[in-house]
Amino acid sequence: MKIQAISTGKVKITQNWRLAQGSGFKRLMNTLLDNEFTAWLPIYVWLIEHPEGLILIDTGIPAEANKRIWFPPFMPLLQRAATFEMTPEEEIGPQLQQSGFAPADVRWVILTHLHQDHDGGLHYFPQAEFIVSQTEWAAATGLKGRMNGYLNQRWPEWFQPTLINFEPPSYESFAGHHTLTNAGDVHLLPTPGHSPGHMSIIVEDGNVSFFFAGDASYTEELLLAEKPDGIGPEPQKQQETHQRILAYAAQKPTVYLPSHDPEAQKRLANRAAVLTNKNAASIWGGDVSSRWAEAGVSPVAL
Ligand SMILES: [Zn+2]
Repeated sequence: MKIQAISTGKVKITQNWRLAQGSGFKRLMNTLLDNEFTAWLPIYVWLIEHPEGLILIDTGIPAEANKRIWFPPFMPLLQRAATFEMTPEEEIGPQLQQSGFAPADVRWVILTHLHQDHDGGLHYFPQAEFIVSQTEWAAATGLKGRMNGYLNQRWPEWFQPTLINFEPPSYESFAGHHTLTNAGDVHLLPTPGHSPGHMSIIVEDGNVSFFFAGDASYTEELLLAEKPDGIGPEPQKQQETHQRILAYAAQKPTVYLPSHDPEAQKRLANRAAVLTNKNAASIWGGDVSSRWAEAGVSPVAL
């Protein structure tokens, strides 16, 4: 299965946004008032050429995000703590055309969550079926959604996604799941914490699971450290999500692909799986270090 990483522009956030400092209200203030920023981070959209149809995971940001005014006036601190940079050609529509596809070719657009750097290209896909978790939709719509920082006034009028409830039975280490494809190889999973109804997507390809993590963690390193970010409403839930993902990665070779991880594209190209002390032995058994060398990847220190 061919999978492409497409970066729709780039973003800088405060260091304390990337990695939480403190707890409660103080944590949020630390995030918004921090003067130290990350390097430029990618904003990945993932294109999966599945035999049952093209799947797009998230839609990136629009070029308007360059303008400060793009953020609503009641979000001044958010304006301060995040900066975007992109050109109109970097929007998802033009980039898909560059890859030889028309937006109308996309069958499913799965949104990991409805934050502004994931829902900024909805307007390109009026023909697609959008998929959002029921919990995320409830958090993001209406006035309450706007007060929570969702830019729902910018969504196209026709935007009416298929809503997913993650009913039991559980799937591996996850509390529930929804299988999207008839082939049974694309699974949607609840991964709350960064946002109330955040979801991740597993695509099984041979003996490897590609794990599209959205913002469940900003990097693989933060997943391994089980560290929450500085903005999500439920940091404890985010840590529980990390533990569930790591438990999954202990059972199956899992290529972990967050939206803003500068190393994600390389890991996709190399099919480089999450390596933990917990999972290395169960995946490969026995002599772990030689198998790491064989796979051309370095062990991740825990
Ligand atoms: Zn987000």
